[in-house]
Amino acid sequence: MSGGANVLAVLVPGVEGRDDASAVLLAEAGRVAHALGGEVTAVGLGPGGGDPSGSGGPFDVEPCVRTLAAHVGALRPRTVLMLDGDLSRELAPRLALACGSSALVGCTGVAVMDGAVTYSKPAYGGWLEEELTYAAGSLEVVTLDRGALSLAAPGATDASTDASTDVSTDASTAGAPVTMLEVGRGAGARAIRHVETRPPDYRTVDIVHAKRIVAVGMGVVAPLTLSGGADEADGLDGAGGADESGADGEGLMVYVEELAALLEASIAATRPVVDEGRLPKERLVGQTGRTVAPELYLALGISGSPHHVAGIQGAETILAVDRDPAAPVFQFADAGYVADLHRVLPALIRRIEEWRDGRD
Ligand SMILES: Cc1cc2nc3c(=O)[nH]c(=O)nc-3n(C[C@H](O)[C@H](O)[C@H](O)COP(=O)(O)OP(=O)(O)OC[C@H]3O[C@@H](n4cnc5c(N)ncnc54)[C@H](O)[C@@H]3O)c2cc1C
Repeated sequence: MSGGANVLAVLVPGVEGRDDASAVLLAEAGRVAHALGGEVTAVGLGPGGGDPSGSGGPFDVEPCVRTLAAHVGALRPRTVLMLDGDLSRELAPRLALACGSSALVGCTGVAVMDGAVTYSKPAYGGWLEEELTYAAGSLEVVTLDRGALSLAAPGATDASTDASTDVSTDASTAGAPVTMLEVGRGAGARAIRHVETRPPDYRTVDIVHAKRIVAVGMGVVAPLTLSGGADEADGLDGAGGADESGADGEGLMVYVEELAALLEASIAATRPVVDEGRLPKERLVGQTGRTVAPELYLALGISGSPHHVAGIQGAETILAVDRDPAAPVFQFADAGYVADLHRVLPALIRRIEEWRDGRD
């Protein structure tokens, strides 16, 4: 056992659903532990995240907290790290409270200098970034934004760690074995009783859990400026004139809503769209918003800034429509269409309706 400070990496069900997520967390935990001269211990909660049958039922947070708190008591780590997500945001504060400390959720960076750990996280809706440290001797319970960690990938220029500390060379900790913790059930009073599990409504579901997402950028909501030129939306013939939408962003939003309904997709947005008050903040995707992992992410009029792309890396398929062939979003898309949305959206809706009605 090392004499340095130890890091406990907790793999939370649901958050680590994707193959690379555990590796991202373990790599970050490895870097922090190495910089502190300590070791990583990795644990998972399961099976079923506390579901008694192990059948993937609802996550039972209270026994998980008790189990983790007992583990923390025995291991006495300096730091507990989890990837940010709905469940870890439930777990982390309760675990911290049970251990007499406080949690920091949604951190986007970890810097280690001279044995001090500084966590950074967005403040004031992402306009500022704050840096926080724990008082000496306090247990650090932290959830880390997966999108931000993916941007600071191992081996890349490590913006999240002190340059004077060689933290990127310790590959061994990234492969820390994961011990599955038996979640103790039964014992202990419960404050929460599970009533019912219902499938989510795509219109109201937290976009973190959405299966399909239609994402709206400034190309949708900005006032119309005709692009001119030929219609480049190959295969979407019959789109009509340059503007079937009502000539402004409101008109395009009507099409977006229609398309989202046809696809049973949730609507998400980029930061400027949210800042303009066109969609609520919980629809924001990116570094200062939600990290999403849908089967389909349809990016409409989104340029593809790193701040936005940070939140969509987990999507299975990314389709992008933008009239600018140089838009960075095309570098991240599985398929991209250089086209004007005023032409594409009506045609796409018509094509889907024809397919639905068996007319194609
Ligand atoms: C600290 C910080 C944090 C941030 N966090 C986030 C974040 O979490 N999420 C986020 O999204 N952003 C975030 N941003 C903002 C980010 O940097 C970008 O400014 C933003 O993502 C751009 O949004 P956009 O793509 O909608 O707009 P733009 O960059 O303006 O792109 C609009 C696109 O629409 C296209 N377009 C225009 N009209 C049409 C049309 N008729 N048909 C087809 N295409 C059209 C244009 O060619 C263009 O590519 C953050 C910025 C900062 C400084």
